[in-house]
Amino acid sequence: MSLSLFDLTGRTALITGSARGIGMSLAEGLGAAGARIIVNSRGDDAVQAGVEHLRGAGIDAIGAAFDVADEAAVRAAFERFDADGIKIDILVNNAGIQHRQPMLELALADWQRVLDTNLTAAFLVGREAARRMLQRGRGGKIINIGSLMSEAARATTAPYTVAKGGIKMLSKAMAAEWAAHGIQANAIGPGYIHTDMNEKLVADPAFDAWVKASNPARRWGQPQELVGAAIFLASAASDYINGQIIYVDGGMLSVL
Ligand code: NDP
Repeated sequence: MSLSLFDLTGRTALITGSARGIGMSLAEGLGAAGARIIVNSRGDDAVQAGVEHLRGAGIDAIGAAFDVADEAAVRAAFERFDADGIKIDILVNNAGIQHRQPMLELALADWQRVLDTNLTAAFLVGREAARRMLQRGRGGKIINIGSLMSEAARATTAPYTVAKGGIKMLSKAMAAEWAAHGIQANAIGPGYIHTDMNEKLVADPAFDAWVKASNPARRWGQPQELVGAAIFLASAASDYINGQIIYVDGGMLSVL
């Protein structure tokens, strides 16, 4: 079988929150498969550093710093893409934050911030991207980054759990409305991956031991281990797959 099924040459991929962590690994992976990458996070300097890092690896990259949870900023970013003739074929809604606190102590503002960044932003960016994909009539790919917590809760992560559960259903809702137009919307649910977001947990011996004991793979995942699923869902190889979530978790959700 030809690997050209997975070739992303000529496609442009916007990956939100791609200045570091999982987003940067996905940028490296989709870029190596041929895509032009748009790096995003809230910070101009971080975005520029990400662009330079990718270019250093021979990947065609540009930057777009904006807050994915700010509707006006998202609209303005897409208007700039329009003005510059940039057409997005692949959107990865990856930007996310965590806030750990027991629900009885949780402030509404923190609940809202996590929901806005991890769930509403995927709707906002997805809506702008899909409007343009529909207008062009060439379809497109939307990959929403969920989590183990799209499926299961853990104490102290209520807003994150709710947002990631919502990401699973948002992917289905996108598929319901846009699949007929050649847009495939799906999700990836990473397990415990060693990134900045989890640095404190990796360093906590009790948590580290819990992750290793609960996971059939007996280890944390690395951000690069999400690349295969992302290339699959970004490429022609997944053209009849809609509304699915692929867990890349070492098997953690498969065991009790
Ligand atoms: P990191 O904290 O390492 O990176 C998050 C990225 O998102 C940063 O580039 C950050 O940049 C950006 N970001 C955060 N808020 C916004 C915003 N409002 N607008 C634009 N960019 C933003 O996280 P990870 O790489 O670990 O996580 C990436 C995704 O994967 C998240 O959705 C997360 O929930 C999910 N995930 C992670 C897991 C893990 O174990 N690490 C497990 C399951 C899911 P900046 O702050 O500079 O804006």
